[in-house]
Amino acid sequence: MPQTEQIRAGIIGLGAMGIGMAQTLSRNGFEPAAFDLSETALSRATDAGAAAMPSAADVFGAAQVIVLSLPAAHHVKAVIAEAESAGHLAQGSAPRIVIDTSTSEAEISRALASRLAAAGHGFVDAPVSGGPSGAAAGTLAMMLGGEEAHVARAMPVLEALGQKIIHVGPSGAGNVAKLVNNMLVASHMITTLEALKLAEASGVSAEAALGVINAATGRSAISEIHYPTWVLPRSFDSGFSTGLMRKDVRLALEMAAAKGCAMPLADLVAELWSEGRSGLADDDDFMLMGDPGAARFEGDER
Ligand code: NAD
Repeated sequence: MPQTEQIRAGIIGLGAMGIGMAQTLSRNGFEPAAFDLSETALSRATDAGAAAMPSAADVFGAAQVIVLSLPAAHHVKAVIAEAESAGHLAQGSAPRIVIDTSTSEAEISRALASRLAAAGHGFVDAPVSGGPSGAAAGTLAMMLGGEEAHVARAMPVLEALGQKIIHVGPSGAGNVAKLVNNMLVASHMITTLEALKLAEASGVSAEAALGVINAATGRSAISEIHYPTWVLPRSFDSGFSTGLMRKDVRLALEMAAAKGCAMPLADLVAELWSEGRSGLADDDDFMLMGDPGAARFEGDER
């Protein structure tokens, strides 16, 4: 267990991921100060041992290390701006470190990190992998972008939340790594779905085909974890929404366009994930994409 006496943590954003992180921070003695725009989410965090704060700025007032788990970069910017307006990130105020676990954008992380650094505070982009269960268990994979000194100061909190902590590089590097990873996740969902549909149509059950794939060379986390846990039992409740998957693919493609990388397969993956092609709404669990029994795409006769 980390030495936590002198650190009080905060957490802003208590959704599928943030609530588990609040539980983990609480269990590890960080006495988290918490805020979410949703009253329901906030009261779940109180049940999990966190102290509910009246605003995001108040979390910055109460804590030295503040974890963000927000839907997108514009929410991150808004919360930081609120803390700045309240004076909690002013030059000369007690130094604070922000650990942004949101799947956000490298350019925005870099801008926030340099603004905060100029006032004596730290901002580490720290997107995560491992889902709501990993957040609740403190076993997330975390990919970090930021200055060595800020990462070191954040480390007791990072070690509580994560099991595999990789400092990828300077500010924004964590965001880049996360987006390329999730580009693969979005692609693997579709390639695995197509493989299993073809197996079933040709007389081999999805279960039998998956057993082979996972013992052979076509496997991925999607085939090894996601299909056996959420697709084949048909629970479709991984806790990651189709809307967030679409955001990640969009951001990866925006990054590719900005860098002049041709991504023909990723372009098609984005199109197949669209509501028009997949029939899935933003609120649907992203595992529904993998249902080998659904006629998901036009021309599918199954
Ligand atoms: P979510 O939609 O379940 O939760 C987001 C929460 O943020 C909501 O409770 C919302 O009310 C709150 N919120 C929004 N704006 C706010 C503001 N200004 N102040 C305070 N609270 C605010 O999302 P999630 O699934 O928990 O994902 C959070 C982040 O983590 C996203 O960036 C997502 O891409 C990433 N992520 C999610 C998973 C997953 O499996 N769910 C895995 C890895 C990474």
